[in-house]
Amino acid sequence: MENYKMAEKMSNVHSDIRGPLFVEAMKMQEEGIPVLKLNTGNPAAFGFGLPESIKNALTGHLEEGVGYCDFQGMKKSREAICEYERKKGIKGITPEDVFIGNGVSEVVSFALPPLLNDNDEVLVPAPSYSLWGNSVYLAGGKPVFYLCDEQSKWYPDMADIRSKITPKTKALVVINPNNPTGALYPEEVLRQLAQIAREFHLILFVDEIYDRLVMDDLTHISLASLAEDIPVVTMNGLSKSHCLCGYRCGWMVISGPRHLTEEYRKGVVKLTSMRLCANTLGQMVIPAALEDMETPAAMVRPGGRIYEQRKATIDELKKINGLSFVKNSGAFYIFPKLDIRKFQITDDKKFARDLLYATNILLVPGSGFDWNAPDHFRIVMLPDKEVLSDAVRKIGSFLDGYNQK
Ligand code: PLP
Repeated sequence: MENYKMAEKMSNVHSDIRGPLFVEAMKMQEEGIPVLKLNTGNPAAFGFGLPESIKNALTGHLEEGVGYCDFQGMKKSREAICEYERKKGIKGITPEDVFIGNGVSEVVSFALPPLLNDNDEVLVPAPSYSLWGNSVYLAGGKPVFYLCDEQSKWYPDMADIRSKITPKTKALVVINPNNPTGALYPEEVLRQLAQIAREFHLILFVDEIYDRLVMDDLTHISLASLAEDIPVVTMNGLSKSHCLCGYRCGWMVISGPRHLTEEYRKGVVKLTSMRLCANTLGQMVIPAALEDMETPAAMVRPGGRIYEQRKATIDELKKINGLSFVKNSGAFYIFPKLDIRKFQITDDKKFARDLLYATNILLVPGSGFDWNAPDHFRIVMLPDKEVLSDAVRKIGSFLDGYNQK
C-alpha cells in the first residue's frame, strides 16, 4: 500500500554506526559469539565511570527539576554554559543566547529548520558524523559535502569549499575536532573558514563536542571567538568529556551580530518551546561538569586512558602492510586508510562485514561518515589498551590474507 511507504525525505538518511551490520553483530552476540564493538563513541560502555563531580551534583539537587523548566534550559545551567563559552573567547553572549537540548543530536534538529527553505544548501565536511548530513536532509535542505584533506592532516580543503558555494548555500558546518578523523584545526585554518563565511554571508554551525578531549599539549580554539562579526551557532555537550552519553545533555549558543540572527532566533524559539523542555536530570549536572575540567584533562594527558589507548592503537596500526593513517589530535577516533588496490576493495560495507565474521570485531566503514571512496574505516579507541592492541593485531592478520575479489 502506497500509504505505508517510507517518506522520500528519508531515503538519504543513514545511520551506519547502529545500522544493518550492527544488527548482525547483535545477533552474533545473542548466539553466544562475543563481539568487540568498536562502532560507538560511548565512553561509559568501556568502563569510563561516572565522574565524582557528577555524582555529587546529582545527590545535591535531586529535588530540583521535576517539573518542566524553561524551554531554553535551566537558568543556572545556561549561566554556567555562558560562562564556559565566554572563557573560550566567545564575546557578547548572555544566558539568553543559550539553548539546552537532549544532546547535541537534538539541538542540531533545532538549529537547521529555522534557516533552510527547501533545497537550500549546507556545506558539510566529508568525512563527518552522519548526524549532520542526515539533519540537513530532514530539514528539507541539501548537504553539499566538502573535502577534508588527508594529505593536510585532514584539515578542510578551502579551495574545495569555495568551489562548492552557490547562490543556494546558506551555512557552513565545521566539526572541530572532527569525527571520524579526530583532527583538531589550528587558528589559521579556523580563520580561513571564518573568512569564507564572512565573504559569502553564511551562518557557521560549529560542533565542538570534543573540545575538551585534545592531546599533545594542543589547545582548542572556538571558531566563534575568531568570528565576532558572523552569525555562529556553537554546539557542545557532556556526552564525551564527562562520559555522560545517556544523560542526553547538549547545548547551542548563538553569537554574532544580534540584528542578523533576530529572525533565525524566532524559529529556534518556536522549535524549542514546542518540545517544552530538555530532560532536567541532564541539565542539573552542567554547572558541576563545567567546573570539573580535570575529568576530561586526566583522560587525555600521558598516562590517561584516551592518550594511552591511542598510543596502543597506533603502535599496532604502524605494523600493518597496506594501511596508513593520520594520527588524531583530538577525540578518540582514528580513520585509517586501506590500500584498496592491494586488497581489491570496491565495497567498504562488505569489507566491514567480512572483518566482522572473521574477527568478531565491529567497525564502521568510511561510507558511514559520508566518505565516498571504499578506502577507510573508523576505530573507536575506547576499550582498554590491551584490548585495542589485540584488536588491531587481529585486523592486521585478517588483512594479510584479504582480497575482496
Ligand atoms: N556531534 C558529533 C561530532 C558526535 O560525534 C556526536 C556523537 O558521537 C554527537 C554530535 C552527538 O552527541 P550527543 O550525545 O550530545 O547527542
